[in-house]
Amino acid sequence: MSKPAKKIIKEIKVDPSKCNGCRACEKACAAFHAIPKYSSFNPARSRIKVVIDERNDQWVPVRAGGYTQAECNGRNHYVIDGKEYSECAFCPASCPSRSWFKEPDSGLPLKCDMCEDVPPLSEPMCVQICARDCLTYSEREVAVAEEETQEADNQMELKTAYESLVKKHGQKKVVDTFSRLSKR
Ligand code: SF4
Ligand code: SF4
Ligand code: SF4
Repeated sequence: MSKPAKKIIKEIKVDPSKCNGCRACEKACAAFHAIPKYSSFNPARSRIKVVIDERNDQWVPVRAGGYTQAECNGRNHYVIDGKEYSECAFCPASCPSRSWFKEPDSGLPLKCDMCEDVPPLSEPMCVQICARDCLTYSEREVAVAEEETQEADNQMELKTAYESLVKKHGQKKVVDTFSRLSKR
């Protein structure tokens, strides 16, 4: 019987009680993603933002999540240890309602990519630079759901079939044929 497929889940745990708002993580992230790498340290290009809720005097590092086309009508209202946080305080979205997580020049959304690189980093840059252990990195292995494994197998079969067709008939002929079929 074949072993169940596994995948690695990467996590950054955040302990805001240790954060002093130094913003070194923002600069490290911006530098790592600059082109060329480390050529600039503009925090406006960072995929992590250290925010403070002024009402509550609490620093909270927030990593950029996905892009959202519109701001939401129903928002979360957090009360933690008796402190109230503003509605969008912990939201990681690149959202029209605020200027966070957008490329300053182009306005394109920025998203945390866990510092994917080749060869891979031992830990993401923001974690490496944080001297207060506010950010800690971990990896865990989880079993992949059967449908997901099946989907991956199907993709692999399609890729293999496509490559063998290209080998036999040439790229142009295969692309033309697929294009013709898709118009039917
Ligand atoms: S580097 Fe660490 S302590 Fe400094 S702002 Fe970032 S998370 Fe907070
Ligand atoms: S920042 Fe987040 S919570 Fe606030 S409106 Fe945008 S998507 Fe909604
Ligand atoms: S994991 Fe990497 S990309 Fe994500 S916020 Fe940290 S430094 Fe930026």
